[in-house]
Amino acid sequence: MQATIGKVVCVGRNYAAHAQELGNEVPSSPLLFMKPASSVVAVRNDIIRLDPTRYGDTHYEAELCIQLSADLSRASVEQAQQAIGGVTLGLDLTLRELQSELKEKGHPWERAKCFDGACVLTDWLDPQAFGDFTQVKYQLYINNELKQDGDTGLMLFPVYELLAEISHAFSLQAGDVIMTGTPSGVGVLQAGDKLTLKLGAHEWQTQVR
Ligand code: ZN
Repeated sequence: MQATIGKVVCVGRNYAAHAQELGNEVPSSPLLFMKPASSVVAVRNDIIRLDPTRYGDTHYEAELCIQLSADLSRASVEQAQQAIGGVTLGLDLTLRELQSELKEKGHPWERAKCFDGACVLTDWLDPQAFGDFTQVKYQLYINNELKQDGDTGLMLFPVYELLAEISHAFSLQAGDVIMTGTPSGVGVLQAGDKLTLKLGAHEWQTQVR
């Protein structure tokens, strides 16, 4: 699946350990925000970090990403299951200091989450290989050190339920991407960092400029 991406819907705090590491409460319904299609870049390019003297630190968040092959509106869990067209890993890049400032003021997060290059996606894979998405393991290594160890079994809102739930908040369309939330272990990207993303037997590499 590699349709034109309409919007990228992101889920905040879908892993309790990550909510806790940032001092946030564990939500009772999924926390949703979006990134525009203009923020999407392919992992085969270098990650271009915004100037930290002007924008502050950029944090990485490795996440399992789903692309839809069908529209979903007020969908059932079964309809959500059938609408999954592709699976991959992504990095939800975040200007963390700016995000914290915006959160403190009760302002929207777009300036911290929607910049060009803020959504890094690897290659789309066939969803058939991932079963019911409750036992998918994925990892992010930086300079060969394991930083994030993802296990969808630990999601507060599992993939099918999550997609159905989002579609009750607003319509999802074929091509839309859902970033399903980051596990714990987020941190700062430094110039020159070499990143390795692993999803089962698949592996992608990129570097921070
Ligand atoms: Zn995220």
